[in-house]
Amino acid sequence: MLFLELAETFKEMETTSSRLALTQFLVALLKKTPVNIIDKIVYLIQGKLGPDHSSKELGIAEKIVTRSLSLVTGVSLNDIQLEYNKIGDLGDVAFSLKYNKTQSTLFQEPLTVEKVFDTLIKIANTSGPGSLDLKIRYITSMLNNSSSLEAKYLLKLVLGNLRLGIANYTLIDAIALSFTGNKENRRILENAFNLSSDLGNIARILAKGSLNDVQLISVSLFVPVRPMLAERAADSREALKKMRGECLAEYKIDGERVQIHKKGKQIELFTRSLENITFHFPEIVKMFADQSANNFIAEGEVVAINPDNLRYLPFQSLMKRRRKHQIQQAMETYPVLLNLFDLLYYDGQDTMGFAFFKRRGLLENIFGNIKNERLKLVDQIKASNIEEIEKFMTKALRNGCEGLMLKDPNSRYRAGAREWAWIKLKKEYSGTISDSVDLVILGALYGKGRRVGKYGALLLGSYSKIDDTFYTICKVGTGFKDNVLATLYDKLSKLIIHKKHPRVEAGALPMDVWFEPSIVLEIVTAEITLSPVYTTGRNTIKPGYGFALRFPKFTGNVREDKSPEDSTTVNEVLQIYRNQLKQ
Ligand code: AMP
Repeated sequence: MLFLELAETFKEMETTSSRLALTQFLVALLKKTPVNIIDKIVYLIQGKLGPDHSSKELGIAEKIVTRSLSLVTGVSLNDIQLEYNKIGDLGDVAFSLKYNKTQSTLFQEPLTVEKVFDTLIKIANTSGPGSLDLKIRYITSMLNNSSSLEAKYLLKLVLGNLRLGIANYTLIDAIALSFTGNKENRRILENAFNLSSDLGNIARILAKGSLNDVQLISVSLFVPVRPMLAERAADSREALKKMRGECLAEYKIDGERVQIHKKGKQIELFTRSLENITFHFPEIVKMFADQSANNFIAEGEVVAINPDNLRYLPFQSLMKRRRKHQIQQAMETYPVLLNLFDLLYYDGQDTMGFAFFKRRGLLENIFGNIKNERLKLVDQIKASNIEEIEKFMTKALRNGCEGLMLKDPNSRYRAGAREWAWIKLKKEYSGTISDSVDLVILGALYGKGRRVGKYGALLLGSYSKIDDTFYTICKVGTGFKDNVLATLYDKLSKLIIHKKHPRVEAGALPMDVWFEPSIVLEIVTAEITLSPVYTTGRNTIKPGYGFALRFPKFTGNVREDKSPEDSTTVNEVLQIYRNQLKQ
């Protein structure tokens, strides 16, 4: 398949502002893609080279790309830099230089998707001495064979800047429509995706075979399972009612979720957004290497601790462990403890279908006798009345936890699902509603006074999985320390897009800048009110009105462990609003 066909589709997608049109472009593209490269197309659409957990990262340094572009076009490095300063994207610079394919070389062969994909893999795999020259050679050889439109998207891919923002659920809809003609089949694909986290593979299986083949996809070691999620309740009374009077209550720890996969000597750790973080936690790998327990997938919450008394520290301390260098030093300065809370697979068997009490029983059998103060099972009690829950909540808060997680003892593990089988109860923030929300940054207004040259207010949104869309809910300008604001400004400047993202529903709200939805902030608020301005839950309670946060404030926590699709959902906001009415 010619890369030009892909580049032309990218161009069309980039100009659309509706998610429906985006889906239609995807369907047309998938339908004309040869079956043997369908997985590659699926990865490239998302600017990736494979599924998140095993993907080689794109994102070559700009200076390598600038040099390649200079070599191919004959334009000086300086002039390219000047153009780049003006336009802000090297793909767009390549396009504006309008270098002419026919002038570049006599021995041209048209670029194919296969060739581009394979070369991108080679680039991602190249490291060590001499790698710089080799990368430049790979990039120039592709540029030599490309038109300006191809060059534009080629460079966006190489730099990791392809901002089409096609998220998993839009792609799942498109795959269902392309190969089964029916969007309803999305559920089967979603289920396979929740277990295997690899849309390229699912599309290939479906394009080659049938829905039955997709249904055969099951959990496997070293492929992260999408985590089960919790609903939120107003208070313990409501939570217990939802649990039909009996639950297993656990500490809710303010750390990062980690999925541990072990077989023999191989041990790998994944985050809730399926990122492989084995490298960041050598001590956790060692903990499991020292254990005889083998052939399992377990889940737990890793939390930063004060090593003197093992007290839990807040989430921000743990984020200090997210670094590329000096891991050993960070391990000593910011020690961690792991609380195990679930078992998804054991000894060749998928245990997700077992009732929760049975999974916990297995966890106790396997890890209950471990003599390591940094590895334990999460504190848990059986509770059947409100007093027991409240007493346990007080104890949890005293021990540095966020609150409680209540779980239905008879529930199975539902990968990727947010259901009432798990309910979170968090502590009260004084003067605010009883819970924080995690919202994604969608846009910004420029600042005034002290904040000139920075953003004065950020537009935030919630997420709806049903239509894979972000809905606006408030503007926030308080709670930002100057240094946080500066870092955010730098991060956000890389996410600027020239118009509202097609997956954002913002009504007619004017904004100075729009961003690709990416960064998630933790926010507290006094109350949820109805507003004609914002689109979250619009028309649910009152025609023309959506939900808004009153006096929203940033808590200081950038939720680096959450993807935009992990933001608080529109449904959760509705739930919080209803809970508020009851109080
Ligand atoms: P939230 O991120 O507020 O939606 O809360 C869900 C998260 O709480 C999970 O993804 C885990 O990272 C974390 N968590 C902390 N303690 C537990 C626990 N005992 N069981 C399950 N999840 C927990």
